[in-house]
Amino acid sequence: MIFKKIIIFGLLFFGIAPVTGAVESNQVTVKFGDMLLTPEVKAVQKGSMKYINLTFLNKYIHVISRWDPDTGNIELRFGKWNFTLTEDRTKYIRAGVEKELPAPVFEEDDQLWLPVDFLIQFGLVVQKDEPNELRLDWADNYLLEIETVTYQNRPALLLIGSRPLMIRESNLIQKPDRLVVDLANVKTHPAFDNRISGSEMVKTVRLGVRNETDLRLVLDLDRLTGYRIIRDPNQEDRLTIVLNGFVTGLKFIQKGPVRKVQIGTSLSTEYSVKTVSEPNRIFIDLVGVTLDTHDLRVAGDGKWVSTVRVAQFDHQTVRVVLDLLDETPCYVIQPQDTSNLIEVRTVQTIQSISWSNDGGGQLKIAGDSELVKTVSKLKNQEQIQIDLNYFRFAPGLAAPIIKSQAVKGIQLITISPTKIRVIISLNEHVLYEIQDSKDQRDLVIRFRNSVLLNKVLVLDAGHGGVDPGACGAQGTREKDFTLDVVMRLKELLDDAGACVILTRKDDRYISLYERPMIANINFAHMFISIHCNSYTGDRNIRGIEIYYQKPAGKKLAEQVMTKLVAGTKLINRGVRFNNYAVLVETQMPSILVELGYLSNFAEETLLNRNDFKDNATRSIFEGIIAYCSQNAM
Ligand SMILES: [Zn+2]
Repeated sequence: MIFKKIIIFGLLFFGIAPVTGAVESNQVTVKFGDMLLTPEVKAVQKGSMKYINLTFLNKYIHVISRWDPDTGNIELRFGKWNFTLTEDRTKYIRAGVEKELPAPVFEEDDQLWLPVDFLIQFGLVVQKDEPNELRLDWADNYLLEIETVTYQNRPALLLIGSRPLMIRESNLIQKPDRLVVDLANVKTHPAFDNRISGSEMVKTVRLGVRNETDLRLVLDLDRLTGYRIIRDPNQEDRLTIVLNGFVTGLKFIQKGPVRKVQIGTSLSTEYSVKTVSEPNRIFIDLVGVTLDTHDLRVAGDGKWVSTVRVAQFDHQTVRVVLDLLDETPCYVIQPQDTSNLIEVRTVQTIQSISWSNDGGGQLKIAGDSELVKTVSKLKNQEQIQIDLNYFRFAPGLAAPIIKSQAVKGIQLITISPTKIRVIISLNEHVLYEIQDSKDQRDLVIRFRNSVLLNKVLVLDAGHGGVDPGACGAQGTREKDFTLDVVMRLKELLDDAGACVILTRKDDRYISLYERPMIANINFAHMFISIHCNSYTGDRNIRGIEIYYQKPAGKKLAEQVMTKLVAGTKLINRGVRFNNYAVLVETQMPSILVELGYLSNFAEETLLNRNDFKDNATRSIFEGIIAYCSQNAM
């Protein structure tokens, strides 16, 4: 049907009180061809005449209706035709001639009802007129509409008929350049214009009668071009005439080490590529493209291409053949920013792959131009795979020999002449990060060993919310201190590749039984609860205590105590057994650190210092590392 050119301006309403039920009582099913119409289209029987509501003309015939408040007339615009229904609704005027309507138009239920016999004026026929069914159709196979559209980026004309459209014949004619298409058994609907202004490539479309049965379309072309006529089997009343693009140019380019042949087309173009060796050649077929000159033969740049030939291979395809001087691998690509270009480029080269033991070791991959890569982790992160598209290894390039705790070895694999792969096999507990150089030509992978990689640690900041814990004479609250230490410790552990879970990350109350549950349901490898102590009975007491409840916890406590005492110079008050709830309930190595006494004035001062908190968290972190290095988890 017709969609584009329809503007409904001011649908009519007449302020007449609806006569409820009068129209409903004698409903008739309405069909248009085989199509059952939407429920708002209604027909009624009145006396010997059937009437249909204006909605039918608006919606299915795309008649534009307008009520003129000055005259009381109703105008119906259909293509280039104009019908005026007079105020008394008994006559209509077309082209200045007034005629009687077959029966008066009437208004009811906020609708305008037209006698169906009047529809003959629009090129319609009544196919079936039974008490309960009304079937309308176009009187003929009409060409109803020609629209300028695009089809797969190509300029196209969409033809819409009232019935299935068939092509009798189509031909390109030169001087003047035009495409002539004959449609079989079609008439143009007399209400539609038979001259359509075109687009960039089609200057005008003219419609004419070919003979008694056929309709002729003449497309005046800007220049002679190939075309396709597409018929959608699901919409046989439509045909799309699609015009080809053109080859616009051929260029040799050298950019750094990369050499290119650039093929320009007037429109974005699909293509296929075939390569052969001995002699080395690349065939590129451009689909939906016309060569509007005679066949071309262009001398190459003398560096990698000896000749380029361009010829119309068939109606739809231009074939470009590159004869290559040597075996330099190359590839064909459509640059992302300009779809009108197709480029043949020589592959780029990985010039070196080098290893240095700096830090935990680093690997550098250096290319001669921007690296186009995809990086993936394989086999539970024990391998890193780097695929480089449009690259080859420099002739003779070998993988470096590596002695490292992080990396087991490196493999260089050539997947295809234009794709290579570097696989790096890692030892256990290795963290790595990949960094591109500014110009994207180099890639550096830095490695680090970490026993904490993927270990789940639950950190528990003691107290919180309504429970402040101990309070110092200077106002230090235990709940604030423990959260601060835990956040610092989390940062160190995150950086080491651990997966850190906090029992609380803000000032809130959590019960003593929820804390171990968080560790248990997450299958944590370790649980560390941070507190600080207070004993107002003797304000001289100071130092660190670490509590455990299970043997594994005792080992962890000992490692952490050693590091804490060395790192903070605080007094070691002992690694001690205790049945604290968080230690009893946790199902993994767990400790509770009492990090100094808030009841001791000097120690409270110390606990507030940033350097102390940093030293303390660093020491706890080192204790955890020491424990993990010696005990499998
Ligand atoms: Zn506490």
